[in-house]
Amino acid sequence: MKVVVQIDALEPLVARALVVAGASNANARIIARVVAAAERDGCHSHGVLRMPGFVTALRSGWLNGRATPSVRETAAGTISVDAGNGFAQVALEAGRGRLMEMARQNGIAAMAIHNGHHFAALWPDVEPFAEAGFVAIGCVSSRRRIAPWGAKRKVFGTNPMAFACPRAGRPPFVWDQASSVMSQGEMLIAQREGRRLPQGVGIDAQGQPTTSPEAILGAGAFLPFGTHKGSAVAAMVEILAAAVGGAEFGFEDRSAGNPGATTSRSGQFLLLIDPSRFAGPQFAERLELLFAELADAGVDRLPGDRRLEARRRAGRDGIEVEKADYDRLVDLAGASAGSKP
Ligand code: NDP
Repeated sequence: MKVVVQIDALEPLVARALVVAGASNANARIIARVVAAAERDGCHSHGVLRMPGFVTALRSGWLNGRATPSVRETAAGTISVDAGNGFAQVALEAGRGRLMEMARQNGIAAMAIHNGHHFAALWPDVEPFAEAGFVAIGCVSSRRRIAPWGAKRKVFGTNPMAFACPRAGRPPFVWDQASSVMSQGEMLIAQREGRRLPQGVGIDAQGQPTTSPEAILGAGAFLPFGTHKGSAVAAMVEILAAAVGGAEFGFEDRSAGNPGATTSRSGQFLLLIDPSRFAGPQFAERLELLFAELADAGVDRLPGDRRLEARRRAGRDGIEVEKADYDRLVDLAGASAGSKP
């Protein structure tokens, strides 16, 4: 069962739940924007569903919701941010302006965030850079969940990667995907709905294929998408986000047995390119040749199309939120029944 809520009502409710759990107003506002945007764009696995996880991590002190990131410029085009054991998105916000200035000045710039918690979708991090004219690549490491191709146990996080680039007269082209066949959020939804999974999504504690979300989320492991090739992408994300970023590897996580450790303390890497420094000002117009060719070849759905359609629908009809998730959010925010739509 769903309830319909407007983004103007959802965002402050999420922020309030985070503040009640111990986050500062400023930090809560940033995370509320990301969580509400996920619901608006139909990415329910990384929207309000995540709130109990955020709240548990905040209340236990595992995640510092009042952290002030420390931004360090390490070279002409590189920024290193210590998130102070706080939200990665708050650290990104702290470095965002300077990162764009550097990319405009140098044609390219990179930012690495360590000691932060990323528990959301990645596209909200990169889409605004493309709206500002940059090609952006982002990736995030997380606690180990994926068994590398051919391995019997997990080593990599579900390690998402996102890409965004500007288009002429249209919203940016954006894709965002986990390195696993299925993200943890999607698996949690399958578990909640009592669904079995397709073959090839994960293995159990003995390294055997299983279709049980419980077995995979428990002592089992997720599998990488695209066999050995997805495994290589997961390794690249681990290297960029954790090793280059100066963060913990997913396998170094020592939080097992800590019930407050619902989020991963991990790393994030962002690369910005100003395409006009390479292809000249006609980049976006020329890119449309590629999209026209894709359409001509029969591609009728680009990555991001479903999200943008959900965004249009939400703007017109409001956001559909799972009622159980919404009611729990209202409780977490300590809001009255009057907040229920
Ligand atoms: P999906 O497999 O659902 O989608 C991946 C990408 O493919 C999206 O850009 C999607 O666009 C696009 N897509 C899906 N189906 C098609 C299709 N038929 N044709 C063309 N494009 C298509 O995502 P995942 O399950 O891999 O990841 C879900 C989310 O989980 C991501 O937002 C990711 O950032 C997040 N995540 C976060 C982690 C963290 O630590 N913070 C860890 C792992 C994952 P569209 O959006 O329009 O459907």
